[in-house]
Amino acid sequence: MTTLPAPAPPTATVAWRGWALTPSGLLASSTQKGVASGHWLPDLPHEARCLAGERDPSRTPCEHPPGEDCDCGIHAFALEALDWTTRADPVPAAALVDDLAGAILRSMSVVGLCALWGEVIEHAWGFRAELAYPAALALIPDSLLYRMEGLDIQDGLAERVAAIYHVPVSVIEGYHAPSWLREQAALLAEDRPTP
Ligand SMILES: [Zn+2]
Repeated sequence: MTTLPAPAPPTATVAWRGWALTPSGLLASSTQKGVASGHWLPDLPHEARCLAGERDPSRTPCEHPPGEDCDCGIHAFALEALDWTTRADPVPAAALVDDLAGAILRSMSVVGLCALWGEVIEHAWGFRAELAYPAALALIPDSLLYRMEGLDIQDGLAERVAAIYHVPVSVIEGYHAPSWLREQAALLAEDRPTP
């Protein structure tokens, strides 16, 4: 992979995140995997929705997610967050990232690079974005969610996901995910326009 897939613009921010996967091969945000509208559709930007009103009826959902004073938006980690936990000079967010990133790398059925664009709010360990599309994906059959979801790697699932989203899909073991993400990011960075 050397370019961002359509519909991501070439200037999109590249970050990483985890997804849940349906047996039909559709990606879903882990918090919305039972919700059809939470599925990421092929060839279309995934649009942020504000769920503030669903969790707390007294709150009004943001009209244009990601909202400044909310936690909505499509979440993804900064690429640097992969390195923070091993830095000699700790950054303040390192402990949080270690927990969060570690939990995602241990539990999610899919990890990958994700292009973010539209309104993108940067925070301590990553981003909340208005629009997103996967850029490279890895299925992790030894992850917790993968086993819980009853997914079967033998039935050509990786090929199906690649055909649905038109992005490269690897199958890796969970411990390999951080180095795989770094490799994919380096490949992508080689051919990207410098901002
Ligand atoms: Zn919101």
